[in-house]
Order: sequence, then structure tokens, then C-alpha cells
Amino acid sequence: YLAKEGRTGVELYQPHKDRNSPERLSLLGDLRRAIDNRELRLHYQPKIVLGGGEVQGVEALLRWRHPVHGPIAPSEFVPLAEQSYLMRQLTAYVIEEALEQAARWWRAGTQVQISINISARDLLGPALPQRLEAGLARHGLPPAAVQLEVTERILTGDQAYTQDTIKALAALGVPLALDDFGTGYSSLIRLQRLAVSEVKIDASFVRRIAESDDDARIVRSIIDLVRSLGMRSVAEGVESDEVAARLVEMGCDVGQGWLFCEPMAAEEITAWLCERRATTPGPGYDYQPEI
Ligand code: C2E
Ligand code: MG
Ligand code: MG
Ligand code: MG
Repeated sequence: YLAKEGRTGVELYQPHKDRNSPERLSLLGDLRRAIDNRELRLHYQPKIVLGGGEVQGVEALLRWRHPVHGPIAPSEFVPLAEQSYLMRQLTAYVIEEALEQAARWWRAGTQVQISINISARDLLGPALPQRLEAGLARHGLPPAAVQLEVTERILTGDQAYTQDTIKALAALGVPLALDDFGTGYSSLIRLQRLAVSEVKIDASFVRRIAESDDDARIVRSIIDLVRSLGMRSVAEGVESDEVAARLVEMGCDVGQGWLFCEPMAAEEITAWLCERRATTPGPGYDYQPEI
């Protein structure tokens, strides 16, 4: 097995795609142990107000350094967990770690919102809102200290399953973001019916807006639609000044990507946030998102 260091420091151990291959099953066992032993780490990547430069929030992203295979990308192990009973435990772990970090930041006066990625499966049943409510209370955090990111698959799947959970989250006051928008062929009418406060435009569109007029048109119309629905637009995968400038021109609210900052460990991102507070004029990162 080859483990290579990619740009994000996580890449390329690819167990066989076969669902029941021994590699996958043994990796699943390793993942369970990694959760139990708290070996998984969260990195954090800021989301930047376009045109303003303030930090709108940070996204928590899982990192796993396997003792034998080295770093394994979440795009490898999260789908594996999603197909098993482990997803619930993985999400519980991420929520606990993220809330702990949020509590540290809020105690220090850094009122930054942490976005937590969840799986569509986490929306089945009442466990998630209950866990969040208990966690927020235990850490003395307001509901707006976190946001949940879920892919638009929740729009295409059976809505009845997830509607109650989404309502419970709304009642709790925890905002929802729609991740990877544009990749799931979901109906825009359904977007309107869903109580999301943020739509994240997938990097595959964002990356190409400086080169392709067609992609630029798609992104512009998504931004317009999102604004007309009263939601915040976030561009994922902003890697160049040129793309950032086009996004500002198009009226996109927030950008996230290597241009601004790569995902970093909590200590590094804390230093990054402090440095920014010292140099950024205006409200800085205690910007309170509208919910
Ligand atoms: P996502 O939620 O859409 O996260 C954005 C991905 O884009 C992250 O990949 C991030 O590192 C990467 N990224 C950030 N800036 C740039 C850029 O400028 N260019 C490019 N090309 N990529 C950029 P990452 O960390 O490998 O995560 C991949 C996916 O794994 C995430 O996509 C999310 O769906 C899933 N994931 C990560 N952490 C968690 C987690 O805690 N729970 C769950 N359920 N899923 C997670
Ligand atoms: Mg995300
Ligand atoms: Mg995304
Ligand atoms: Mg993604």
C-alpha cells in the first residue's frame, strides 16, 4: 500500500473498492479503534467574507494518520463509515471534539462559528439534535457556535425521514449549510423549501469560473438564486486571486480555499486567528452570521 503526501497532507491509501474486501473490513476495524483511542484529529479551515476579509467561521475537517498506511483522506474513510454502523460514532466523536474546541475559543473571546460535516444518515432519527443540545449545554455554548454541513443528497432522498430532524435542529437554533451544491442534481424548488442558511458551491464549479464562461454563468446564477432565497453563498475551493475577484464581482458572500488558508491543526489556526485580529480592521471574526 502506498501512502503519499498530497497537497493537504492526506492522500492516496486506496483500499479496494469491493465492499467486503479484507482491506476495507480491516480498515473499518482500524477506524473503530482510532475513534475509541481518540486518534482522529480535526483540522480547521477559515471561511472568509469576500471583499471584507473577516472570518465568517471555520470548518472542521477530519484527519487520520493510520499507524501503518499513513495519512488517509476523509474521502476514503468517511464513505466507508457511512456504509456501516460506525458513522454514528464518528459523527459523535467529531461533534464532541469540535464543541470542545469551540468552547476553548469562546472562553478566550474568539466567537467563531465551527461548521461540522455530517452525513445524510445522521439525520435519520432524533439522536443528532439531542446530542448537540446536550453538548452545547455542557460547554455553555449558544447554538450559533456551530453549523452543520450536509450534502444536497438530503434533498434527493426520502424527505420524510429527515424533515423531523431538520425541524428539531431549527428549533434548537443550529444553522444548516448545504455542502457541495451543484453536484447532486437536486431540484431548486426543494432548496427553497429547506431551512438552510448557507449554500456551499462545489469547488468543481468554482475552480473553473476564470476559464469557462459556461461555468461562470452557472456559478453566477447559483449565487443569485441563493441570495434571492435569503441564504448565504459560500464558494468552496478558492485557489487564485483571479477566481476570488470574479466571485466578488458576482456578489458571492464568502470564500473558502487555499488562497486564504489551508486546513490547519487547532493550535495553528488559533495563532492565525489571533494574528488576524491584530491586523484586520472592523468586526473581525466575531462577525455573527444571520440565522
Ligand atoms: P467538504 O466538506 O466539501 O470539504 C471541503 C474539502 O475541500 C476538504 O477536503 C478541504 O480540505 C478541501 N479544500 C479546501 N480548500 C481547498 C482548495 O482551495 N482547493 C481544493 N482542491 N480543495 C480544498 P478534505 O478535508 O479532504 O475532506 C473531504 C470531504 O470529506 C469533505 O468535503 C467532507 O465531505 C468529508 N469530511 C471531512 N471531514 C468530515 C467529518 O468530520 N465528518 C463527515 N461526515 N465528513 C467529513
Ligand atoms: Mg463541508
Ligand atoms: Mg464541500
Ligand atoms: Mg466535498
